Amino acid sequence: MQLKSLQDADLKGKKVVARFDFNVPLSKTEPRKITDASRIDQAIPTIRMILEKGASKLVMISHLGRPDGKPDPKYSLEPVAEYLATKLGTDVILSESAVDNGVKNLLQLPETKIVLLENIRFIAGEEKNDMELAEKLSQYGDIYINDAFGAAHRKHSSTYAINAFFKNRAYAGLLMKKEIDSLSALLEKPAKPFVAVLGGAKVSDKIKTIEKMLVLVDSLLIGGAMAYPFLKAKGMTVGKSLCSDEDVSLAKQLLQADKGGKIQLPKDHVIADGLEGAPEACANTNIPEGKMGLDIGPETIKSYSDHIKTAKTIFWNGPMGLFESKNFEKGTMSIAHTIAGTKSFSVVGGGDSVAAVQQSGEADKFSHVSTGGGASLEYIEKGELPGVQALKLGV
Ligand code: AMP
Repeated sequence: MQLKSLQDADLKGKKVVARFDFNVPLSKTEPRKITDASRIDQAIPTIRMILEKGASKLVMISHLGRPDGKPDPKYSLEPVAEYLATKLGTDVILSESAVDNGVKNLLQLPETKIVLLENIRFIAGEEKNDMELAEKLSQYGDIYINDAFGAAHRKHSSTYAINAFFKNRAYAGLLMKKEIDSLSALLEKPAKPFVAVLGGAKVSDKIKTIEKMLVLVDSLLIGGAMAYPFLKAKGMTVGKSLCSDEDVSLAKQLLQADKGGKIQLPKDHVIADGLEGAPEACANTNIPEGKMGLDIGPETIKSYSDHIKTAKTIFWNGPMGLFESKNFEKGTMSIAHTIAGTKSFSVVGGGDSVAAVQQSGEADKFSHVSTGGGASLEYIEKGELPGVQALKLGV
């Protein structure tokens, strides 16, 4: 079943209820300020299109953080409302609660155009996929638009249950559509060679993604702390690098499943006594006792870059080392620059990899930088997400 896009929706004179992912990082101290607004920025084209198409009202729903089903001023969407008002150059009214009579009264006023509902996760029903809450939300509008890709792997009231009330009146926002189109291009007939670069902290977190990638790709370049369980499984020493027994046994299974020899592992490393330690080169694959692997070394950078340069399709998720530290960012930055320099179709899965790509200053050279970490990995694994399926079928 096709995903209907906002582009095809007739919104003239209609009241629109739209779910966004405005879950942006905020500063820890008061007044709380948005430290990275990119998730909001990426939703702006959808908001503008809804307004340009002549919607009479726009009611926006989002979550922020994990307030656990009760109001908590720390997670108020107030900074988001202010940011949106400035960016759109129009009033954005923040409701006191997502569901109370105040919202309905507000919507009756002719001058009310855009309302942002206060954090939907202040209401316990949201994460329980509560039908009653979904019904209340549905009463705010005639049309439902879901642009919250980052929350589409959740079966929540405002992403899942709500679709039951908008049969044939539900559409994907522009960002949602772009996310799904880009990720499904990886799954359906990707141009070959297809190279995946996977890194990050743990094998167990990404085991399903690695299994899926082994089927899809021509080579799978592994970096970050995730590489050490693989090296240990092959009989190398890893010193005191991050490496759990569970991950070593998962890595063993993956190496056995890799009949085509697609998995590539680091040949050398940057090591230190600990996370704060001074960086040392380790030209050997084995990491000495008492040392910790914290980045891939120059030989590995070269070999991984050679693979990347031959690729026509690239998927990247997870940093190659402790990139938040200047001492251990080189592997991750080099991979970002190499991918940015290719003409291939390149997709970066969300989460820390997005921060790494932004740190490299080359985000605009990637074909697509996903806004959803968990959602993008789950889509790759399963080829579908609950929020997207519900949008297509009306639950
Ligand atoms: P993930 O969320 O699984 O993608 O993991 C990302 C985190 O793993 C980042 O905070 C990285 O700094 C961290 N990381 C990557 N490589 C290493 C490493 N060799 N040692 C310790 N932490 C690492």
